[in-house]
Amino acid sequence: MTDLTQLTLKAALDGLKAKQFSSEELTRSFIDAIDAANPKLNAYVLPTADRALAMAKASDARLAAGEGGALEGAPLGIKDLFCTEGVRTTAGSKILSEFVPPYESTVTANLWADGAVMLGKLNMDEFAMGSSNETSFFGPVVNPWKSRASNADLTPGGSSGGSASSVAADLCLAATASDTGGSIRQPAAFTGTVGIKPTYGRASRYGMVAFASSLDQAGPIAKTVTDSAIMLKAMCSHDEKDSTSLNVETPDWPSFVGRSVKGLRIGVPREYVVDGMPAEITALWEQGRKWLEAAGCQMVEISLPHTKYALPTYYIVAPAEASSNLARYDGMRYGLRAEGNGKSLTDLYEETRAEGFGKEVQRRLTIGTYVLSAGYYDAYYVKALKVRRRILQDFENVWDKVDAILTPSTPSAAFALGDKQIDPVAMYLNDIFTVTANLAGLPGISVPAGLDANGLPLGLQLIGRALDEGTVFSLAGALEDSAAFTAKAEKWW
Ligand code: GLN
Repeated sequence: MTDLTQLTLKAALDGLKAKQFSSEELTRSFIDAIDAANPKLNAYVLPTADRALAMAKASDARLAAGEGGALEGAPLGIKDLFCTEGVRTTAGSKILSEFVPPYESTVTANLWADGAVMLGKLNMDEFAMGSSNETSFFGPVVNPWKSRASNADLTPGGSSGGSASSVAADLCLAATASDTGGSIRQPAAFTGTVGIKPTYGRASRYGMVAFASSLDQAGPIAKTVTDSAIMLKAMCSHDEKDSTSLNVETPDWPSFVGRSVKGLRIGVPREYVVDGMPAEITALWEQGRKWLEAAGCQMVEISLPHTKYALPTYYIVAPAEASSNLARYDGMRYGLRAEGNGKSLTDLYEETRAEGFGKEVQRRLTIGTYVLSAGYYDAYYVKALKVRRRILQDFENVWDKVDAILTPSTPSAAFALGDKQIDPVAMYLNDIFTVTANLAGLPGISVPAGLDANGLPLGLQLIGRALDEGTVFSLAGALEDSAAFTAKAEKWW
């Protein structure tokens, strides 16, 4: 193979170990690919070529000495909400556009400890609020895929649009991402990549710019199910610096991929049929059931009756937590401070926040502050917490009947940039199949499973029991084998 950037993470790790190429060679191939593609795709907000080469050389020295960790020499992209010591971390926001963290997030520290190489920081929706990467202060990310029906630039999804686009366009071997309501799985589905959000508490949130802390969870976007398992294993750990981090072992997830799924019972929730869903998605879901049946699974129709309340619940809980989390951006401690004509301290706060936050973030903060305010707290926020509990209960009620749940990942394929920007509710509907797993804290994976009539990728989602990513990986591997999805975006960038 001449183009090293097309390797899977697994193949690259094997090649590095076998000394077929060096990490420096591999890293240089990615740096060249990023230089060529970034003006068109805008996936990286900060390529860090010099740092990447220094890390690659250090990896080569370790590999030469027969040492090295599980990701030794592997060039990765990092979503720009993981704090990286000494490297600007913006969360896609103007308010943090010059923020250089003095510390490293636990997730990225784990990757570097395993020998990974950082290619740069990846574009994202501002504070991870969005489904199309259009709320980024640094401009939208473009999906490498094009529809056969038009030449319009498509969204890679959001908020981890930079992560998804860079993996799909071979601008890194794999990427970190985060998922509060679907931000790993929806972009993965839109770009023909694999994305997994683990059980809440598996990955440390320490050093991840917070959006909605009871929902935020880190995970990878990668080219294959095995690659995603390798990445997730490296990212997760128990961490005393995050009070919600679970004190549990991180299993050897790559070893679950390829295991037999015979005898597993798969729930098919009847509430996941939504109005206006393209027939192709319904058909793909049906196809997914047939594939798993052929692999020896048993399909079980289930009911998750509170599903229809998931989206409204999410859009109360997430903004409420955001309004609390983002109160720290006041122009005093770090980040942007408005020059303004403020006469009082309050004026300075207001001007800083008006200048530093984009429109969607302001909308969320307004909603969040409203639902937490004295007169409305019980009617909205407390009510939403009660419904959230019901949604979790729905899942708990089915776990004695099924081992995992199969659904579509998204209600549509990638749409054109600009298409839904003016209609926040249409945008929020992207998350309809993904938010439930966040509200219930469950693991969810999106696996590329087919193409629509316009040649755009579609994904299927598997949701598992808490802490049972292993079963999710085995089933995802079975889907991947059956779907044999090998399509790639045709290179135009
Ligand atoms: N699209 C959802 C939102 O805008 C989810 C984002 C996410 O998971 N970070 O809130």
